[in-house]
Amino acid sequence: MKLERYLAVSKDIIPAKFIISKSIEVENFECLEINELWEIHNRTLKKVDFNKFDFYDIEYVSPNLLDLKIEIAKRIFENCKFCEHRCYVNRKIERGFCRIKESYYSTEFLHLGEERVLIPSHTIFFCGCNFKCVFCQNWDISQVYFDRSIINRCIPYNPKKIANIIENKRVYSKNVNFVGGEPTPHLLSILKTLKYLNRNIPVVWNSNMYLTVESLNLLKGVVDVFLTDFKFGNNKCGERLSNVKNYFDIVGRNHLLIKDEEVIIRHLVLPNHIDCCTEKIFQFISNNLYNAVVNVMFQYRPEYKAKEYPDISRILNYEEIERVIYLVEKYNLDVISD
Ligand code: SF4
Repeated sequence: MKLERYLAVSKDIIPAKFIISKSIEVENFECLEINELWEIHNRTLKKVDFNKFDFYDIEYVSPNLLDLKIEIAKRIFENCKFCEHRCYVNRKIERGFCRIKESYYSTEFLHLGEERVLIPSHTIFFCGCNFKCVFCQNWDISQVYFDRSIINRCIPYNPKKIANIIENKRVYSKNVNFVGGEPTPHLLSILKTLKYLNRNIPVVWNSNMYLTVESLNLLKGVVDVFLTDFKFGNNKCGERLSNVKNYFDIVGRNHLLIKDEEVIIRHLVLPNHIDCCTEKIFQFISNNLYNAVVNVMFQYRPEYKAKEYPDISRILNYEEIERVIYLVEKYNLDVISD
């Protein structure tokens, strides 16, 4: 059964991956160079089978695999390449493409509007994004760093406080769901949150998946479910509508790198993009991602700047919806409902 491990963590039958990472000892890494940190990280990760752990195997140690991940993330934060914009800025003092320095969030609550298997999902909405989608439905929180007039609706993010809130709401929530905006620029803050978090809970990474291989490696061993957003079936549409280069190459690559993980792929169908995007994505999933379940979303409505782009300035029509339903069957996708 797909998502079997996630369901077992959610019911507290087995430990979440971040809990396991805290019980994996690593050698002392103080003063080591970044390439040496990666060497220890990758060697350790290779040795661990996260499916073999039970609660009686868990005993927190120090320094552990999560500590090491945090140290690597700190170094990346000072020379930022969390995502494929690869700005190489020191985010303690300057801003890259996403304009994000320290982390802010807009809200956190028990979300009932996610996929059925996830709800109630304790969702943390970070401010800011590394994409500039012209049709963004959350533009008021994703684009805050580009529009200074709305930054004041965001709250400074304190990892310890958020960990405490997550623990208190665990009795009601099936998982903690890091989203935005986009969580990638906030990877360091999220890893720190997991350090303070001591209750077992599945971690959901709800992302546009434009992150670097380095960031993806840091997520392995802490994320239980990748909830990915697969928007475009080619690079050109990604550049035109989200202002990112090499969209399909990067997001496709990252999906291949998590093909053995538990993955839910969301695809928001855009009007006039069935052939160039929807079908290409379905084809890619069908050929490569045996483990993924897919949520095909028909609720597109033109928001933000979408009216300026004639192809996406309307909702889907009846023929488009019918055609997508036909494609779901043609490519034999394992569809999940919301
Ligand atoms: S998260 Fe991405 S866009 Fe933001 S500074 Fe880092 S590399 Fe640049």
